Amino acid sequence: MKNTILTQDNEILSELGKSLISGSLSDDRLLAQTATQPAIQILPDANLLKIGGQSFIDRGRAAVFPLIDEIVENLGRHKMIIGTGGGTRARHGYSVGLDLGLPTGVLSVLGTFVSMQNARMIHFLLAKNGIPFIEPVQFPQLPLYLEERGAVIFFGMPPYTFWHENPLVGRIPPHRTDTGSYLISEVFGTKSMIFIKDEKGLYTADPKKDPNAKFIKKISVAELKALDLQDVVVERPVLDMMQRAENRRSIRVINGLVKGNLTRVLDGEDVGTLIYAD
Ligand code: ADP
Ligand code: MG
Repeated sequence: MKNTILTQDNEILSELGKSLISGSLSDDRLLAQTATQPAIQILPDANLLKIGGQSFIDRGRAAVFPLIDEIVENLGRHKMIIGTGGGTRARHGYSVGLDLGLPTGVLSVLGTFVSMQNARMIHFLLAKNGIPFIEPVQFPQLPLYLEERGAVIFFGMPPYTFWHENPLVGRIPPHRTDTGSYLISEVFGTKSMIFIKDEKGLYTADPKKDPNAKFIKKISVAELKALDLQDVVVERPVLDMMQRAENRRSIRVINGLVKGNLTRVLDGEDVGTLIYAD
């Protein structure tokens, strides 16, 4: 019996539909036709905040409590999707796993659970404000929680686990919590992507190691790559992804240790470093 809907000569199919059904999805010329409609912004009012693991949550109460207060102050003013880093415990887990010969995909499992620990901790601190923690399987409820409660917490690690690709160098999973948080902002077309860390933003070198490092207020990804810095403030795959992004073509890095910075950046002020892809 002939399939009356999905044939390439069926009239209800668009030209693109016909090409996709009859053509190969590895054909670059065909693929070039697939992005003619701009990607929609699913949650254009939401801000994506990533709270650093090593740079922030690992500092404990002195860093975390004031930030929690500031998040609470902004409930109802700004919608916040909050991702968490892994940090020192993830690095320790990786080191033991590496010693045991575990592959990247398994190290990714370990990192996922550490960033989940941090998400759970942030969640319990915000629980009395009715802010839920969600796992990837609960993302369909994210818009409801965001609308009802104004914020939601997830773990920043992208849930690739065993399916994580190997890095170019070494064995640490290359896509970690900066990347996982960034990808949510890209897919949902959020208003902003804000990395909350412990430095003012991007410098010409790690300011913890080089006292002569200079602060960079604004820079394009192309310029940043051309500088060929030894170390940068965000995971490098984020920079690559920005250049291919449909929605999230800029990110901000702010120092969350400075009280008021989060509120200022949510209010649209020029805080920290802006990295953009155009
Ligand atoms: P997170 O806690 O979000 O995972 P990381 O600790 O991985 O953050 O990255 C942030 C740290 O990166 C900063 O605390 C800073 O010491 C370091 N860093 C390295 N290179 C740079 C740079 N060029 N500019 C600013 N910070 C840098
Ligand atoms: Mg990191």
